[in-house]
Amino acid sequence: MHTAVRMARAKLMRGICGLSGLEPLRRTALAWLSGRRPLVVRCSDCEDVPALGFVPERPSGEMTLCRRLFADPLDRVCAVFFHELIHVCGGGELDSEGLECHCFAEGGATLPGASDYRLFRQLPARNGLYAGAYLLWHPGSGELFVRGPDGEPGEALNVRFLPIRK
Ligand SMILES: [Zn+2]
Repeated sequence: MHTAVRMARAKLMRGICGLSGLEPLRRTALAWLSGRRPLVVRCSDCEDVPALGFVPERPSGEMTLCRRLFADPLDRVCAVFFHELIHVCGGGELDSEGLECHCFAEGGATLPGASDYRLFRQLPARNGLYAGAYLLWHPGSGELFVRGPDGEPGEALNVRFLPIRK
């Protein structure tokens, strides 16, 4: 767990893994990690849940990591912790998946699955881009962008999701 926290903090040192334009998210995440806000991490058997971790639908500083996650390599544990941290900060599935894949591209990330894409496609779309709380996804190219303050695309992430075939 200490490694996951240390790793997450390192990812948040220069922007979020080098991305600019996410300063409020970065500051919120660092506040949770610094103990200024009490982040509670529970461990559970998660018998009925297909996920490796989750946070309550209305984030309150709690996350649950499932015991089976800890059989995975350490970089996977760190990536899932980071994914759930973005949820704790109010991110939806697009935001958590996108930043997980951007920050843990060298190891630990897994691409979103079919159920994730279903969620992405329920997001509000504007100018052809699906909008999460912090990221935008272009369904034609699969590209991901930081969501600017005006809702316009900012910096591009270093990963792409699958494009939707027409
Ligand atoms: Zn998630």
